[in-house]
Amino acid sequence: MASSQSFEVTVVGGGLGGLTAALALRHRGLRVTVLEQAAELGEVGAGIQTAPNASRVLMGLGLRRQMEAIRTEPLDQVRRRWTDGRIVGLTSLGQRCKDEFNAPYWHYHRADLHRMLLDACADPAGPGPAVVVHTSSKVVEMDRTDPVRPVAVTEDGRRHGADVIIGADGVRSRVRDLMGAPDTLLFSGEMAYRALIPGDLIAADPATRWLVDRYQSTIWYGPDRHLVHYMIRGGDYLNVVACVPCTDAVRENWTLPATAQDLVEAFPGWDDRVPAMLSKAKEDVLAFALYYRRRDPVWLDGRVALLGDACHAMLPYQAQGASQAMEDAAVLAEELGAVTASGIEGALRRYVDRRAKHAGMVQDASLANKTFYHLADGPEQRARDEKLTNFDGESDV
Ligand code: FAD
Repeated sequence: MASSQSFEVTVVGGGLGGLTAALALRHRGLRVTVLEQAAELGEVGAGIQTAPNASRVLMGLGLRRQMEAIRTEPLDQVRRRWTDGRIVGLTSLGQRCKDEFNAPYWHYHRADLHRMLLDACADPAGPGPAVVVHTSSKVVEMDRTDPVRPVAVTEDGRRHGADVIIGADGVRSRVRDLMGAPDTLLFSGEMAYRALIPGDLIAADPATRWLVDRYQSTIWYGPDRHLVHYMIRGGDYLNVVACVPCTDAVRENWTLPATAQDLVEAFPGWDDRVPAMLSKAKEDVLAFALYYRRRDPVWLDGRVALLGDACHAMLPYQAQGASQAMEDAAVLAEELGAVTASGIEGALRRYVDRRAKHAGMVQDASLANKTFYHLADGPEQRARDEKLTNFDGESDV
């Protein structure tokens, strides 16, 4: 559905949030330019899950067939105890999500999901004007002299004027700084190791074969740390995310390379299945310091608005950061797509009104999971596990 008078939007940042926004705006007939600082567009080598809320947004952009080509479907979500792997919680995902939420719960390689969005943005046969993407375009300044025509200025001095600028430039958003927003980024004290373990190594070892016999999304709970894993690319890789207390070096550098040995040593005394799995991580293990924001009212300044991690960076303890960015994208496009240029400010205010409260709730719930997942063994942990065990997950196991 095109708006009656097409106008121009510049999206700063070509991550999952920025590209979903660009595509959604394109679907509404708007002319979109993406400015990305990296020389090449891409994503880190890691997995990502889209719960039904995000799957629904992507399917609404006509991507179902493309998603089906790259997704892996987990049958259930399983919660295990650190000492012995005992299952304390089981929730059916597969068909149940489609039945109850009318959208699937799927896993992907991040690079595949990102490529799918980029291709759809560039597709000459898609609806509306194709999205123009400029790489090696780091935004360093904004010229707000004309209040209805903000200009993003890139490092090389190029000026990109537009009717609207969307800052989708991630957790350390420059656009956010340029809006004069206070620095509210908080350090969680934790870091996430990420690794992709080749599926053939997992399948070949009887100690890890169980991981390919039934595709599940698994979370192990232990004192002050947790471990998440699931298969992607139809079993080509096991994606592992291991959240543990952060080292000083990782905190200082934000991201550092790590090894399989670091991963194994981060889980001393855990059930034997954990080191059997983690010791197979061969390369590309990376440690990321985890930063987040609290609910934050600063999403908007005139015709410049924020989206995704730039405004609601959250801990990945509900796997909802990118999914919330995708919800932002859908609502932003709905609002901007319904107005002419004179209605832009109102449309952006409605976007923030519709999104900020919900994203804030997800930020809070993700932070609460830091405590919930990491309880030391004792009465609170037993109460948690009992509650999870009694939850009727309706699995078909
Ligand atoms: P980003 O992905 O950070 O993209 C920002 C882009 O802007 C980048 O390409 C960057 O290069 C570019 N950029 C930055 N500054 C500038 C500038 N000045 N000029 C131009 N370009 C710029 N979410 C989920 O929904 N599901 C999951 O399963 C999930 N798992 C996660 C696991 C871990 C361990 C972590 C850490 C996060 C996880 N998340 C998950 C969260 C998710 O990764 C993020 O919320 C999401 O990637 C944010 O997308 P974004 O587009 O807002 O920002």
